[in-house]
Amino acid sequence: MKTMRNILTVAGKGKLAMDKWVVHRSVFLLCSGISLAFQNSLIPDGKHFDSLPTCQNNNNISSSSYMKERIVELANDPHMVDWMKKIRRQIHENPELAFEEFETSKLIRQQLDQMGISYRWPVARTGVVATLGSGSSPFVALRADMDALPIQEMAEWGHKSKVDGKMHACGHDAHSAMLLGAARILKQLQDTLQGTVVLIFQPAEEQGQGGRDMIAEGVLDNVDAIFGLHTVHRYPTGVVASRPGEFLAGCGSFKVKIIGKGGHAAIPQDSIDPILAASTAVISLQNIVSREIDPLDSQVVSVAMIHGGTAFNFIPEFATIEGTFRAFSKKSFNALRERIKEVIEAQAAVYRCSSEINFTGTEHLTIPPTVNDARIYEHVRRVSIDILGEGNVELAPSFMGSEDFAFYLENVPGSFLFLGIRNERIGSIYQPHSPYFTIDEDVFPVGASIYAAFAHSYLSNSTRILNSFD
Ligand SMILES: [Zn+2]
Ligand SMILES: [Zn+2]
Repeated sequence: MKTMRNILTVAGKGKLAMDKWVVHRSVFLLCSGISLAFQNSLIPDGKHFDSLPTCQNNNNISSSSYMKERIVELANDPHMVDWMKKIRRQIHENPELAFEEFETSKLIRQQLDQMGISYRWPVARTGVVATLGSGSSPFVALRADMDALPIQEMAEWGHKSKVDGKMHACGHDAHSAMLLGAARILKQLQDTLQGTVVLIFQPAEEQGQGGRDMIAEGVLDNVDAIFGLHTVHRYPTGVVASRPGEFLAGCGSFKVKIIGKGGHAAIPQDSIDPILAASTAVISLQNIVSREIDPLDSQVVSVAMIHGGTAFNFIPEFATIEGTFRAFSKKSFNALRERIKEVIEAQAAVYRCSSEINFTGTEHLTIPPTVNDARIYEHVRRVSIDILGEGNVELAPSFMGSEDFAFYLENVPGSFLFLGIRNERIGSIYQPHSPYFTIDEDVFPVGASIYAAFAHSYLSNSTRILNSFD
């Protein structure tokens, strides 16, 4: 079994044998009692080693420095790693789709019960919201998702999905296991928590509705900051990446009915042709991004479905088109949506048709852009560097995918992180939603320790973090 010490060898950035590495600390202490910027990283032996400086007014250097070492130690404990793997594999074998995560939720609650962590349930049908710490302010939230996908697993391995047509192909089983790992770590450090940690296990991320419903049921009440992560194959195991500001695109869908007047195709003058109107609407929609949008402001409009007619010689009453649109800023996202509406209505009118446009997306909910708060992003970055070393923490480019974590970020400052899981050696190379999707389970101590370290150090430094860009 591998621990975080040899994960760095997998990450490709640390090919050295890990016994040659020692803990290095660059320590800057603020003697007011708040440790300001510890950077504990693993560097090759013999390069440099600073012992912890003493700070006369600060006998408690635990929050940022010692605790991160303790957190990493707890996360790497072989029993902890085995336990997270066992939970993840159990969830993986029994995948449940959005809002049906009853057994997954039960398993999570059982583990919380065993740890003596209290929780609220059900929240948004299957969701679980646990709390630990002082019970008073500040409150910091950590989020994981629980739902699987309607995909048949094709990968052959010992813990393959036992449910035909359902699979954890997006890593949410791993997210839940790692958040439970963080809960176990934080429970052991409970006496040192300078506030309250809120653990959010949410349903239905894939539908884009779980986060929104959890918020509607008050999970963010009192919460000052939130952190979430997602496994990705873009980065190797042991590497994480994020960016401040606009990170993931907002995702909207549209469903349009263009209504004309049916009639024989040989007598077009007696009909109003919705096929022609739909066709020109599709073409005109392409001009929005290519002719009206700043090329440096990435946006997408795609029509992916078009239906109309039942016979080759009969002009139908109506035609439908459906598609998606994406943008990174809320301003661009809302403007794009408005232009799509104008173009479709105008093109329908040109051909004497009427139109009905539905943006509500009952099947595919509109998800706003995921915009990381710069202060919380910076805190996540520092915590990640402390745990993984500077070379394993990257600035991610903006990504056109979307995440319902965006709903949380619309309500409280927070940050979302990509957690690398690429490992060619074990076949962890497939994109999310692939039937061959495979998780490199060596990532579990990385994810659990970043979750835990983020929360623990946020509570100790919340005022400084939230004022850091003022
Ligand atoms: Zn997904
Ligand atoms: Zn996902």
